[in-house]
Amino acid sequence: MSMTDTCEPILKGQRALVTGASSGIGAAIAKALAAAGAKVVVNYAGGADRAHAMVEKIRAAGGEAMAIRADVSREDEVEAMFAEMIETWGSVDILVNNAGLQKDAPLVEMSLADWQKVLDINLTGQFLCSRAAVREFLRRGVVPELSRVAGKIICMSSVHDVIPWAGHANYAASKGGVSLLMKTMAQELAPQRIRVNAISPGAIKTPINTAAWMTPEAEAELLKLIPCRRVGEPEDIARATVWLASDDSDYVTGATLYVDGGMTLYPGFDQGG
Ligand code: NAD
Repeated sequence: MSMTDTCEPILKGQRALVTGASSGIGAAIAKALAAAGAKVVVNYAGGADRAHAMVEKIRAAGGEAMAIRADVSREDEVEAMFAEMIETWGSVDILVNNAGLQKDAPLVEMSLADWQKVLDINLTGQFLCSRAAVREFLRRGVVPELSRVAGKIICMSSVHDVIPWAGHANYAASKGGVSLLMKTMAQELAPQRIRVNAISPGAIKTPINTAAWMTPEAEAELLKLIPCRRVGEPEDIARATVWLASDDSDYVTGATLYVDGGMTLYPGFDQGG
């Protein structure tokens, strides 16, 4: 019997935490994980209303969720968030390191504060949340009824972990860092039955990049960079996340899944260069 020959939701009984889950990609992931049977913590840093609205949406669809506020770049807040989740639901099985932001500027105009903020949230935030999750995975160990492994981490990276991005040095550096943080955690933790993977989205329609697709002119420019000729939707990323969180991807660790409509295929060379 294959692992999917069952009527049970694929993540039934598992407990997931999604950072930055009240908007964009994180919101779609939270909904998809809940639809797949997981209980979901909707983490947010500001805007409690939107986070609570997301929880209500998940509940209305028959899922289970709760909102917890924490700035992922703050060690004390991350520790308190995991403590609250573990106290309420007993443990954590899936972490999605999704929270992130951009603070763009040409290199010579980039302030140290904006460099630091992006690195603190996009990279250090993933380290802090991963460390807290892994400590719990190791404490609990494998529960065969739930999953073949003790825990799964999915790191949200970007095509800019391999494509340099002028005017976004802090963002590209943070995602390049996420890529090797992910691989190093995967290598270090595989013997303890913990899987760590990354998703690198291309252009996805969310609040982070509204200017890039809002007008038909901007979208036409953007589509030149996407061989599939469509801008991605948050659900494209959510479906990949559910797969990486499930036992269907049990032999996958240390991988980066590019969900980008071909953006990393050097579209400038599509006529032979
Ligand atoms: P978004 O702005 O809608 O989502 C980012 C979320 O992170 C927001 O909800 C925000 O409140 C939250 N956040 C920011 N700082 C935080 C902090 N300190 N603590 C906790 N939460 C915090 O944008 P999105 O496009 O959905 O981005 C989600 C992830 O996807 C990011 O890591 C982003 O870099 C990555 N990504 C997005 C695209 C895209 O095209 N949209 C492409 C590649 C990668």
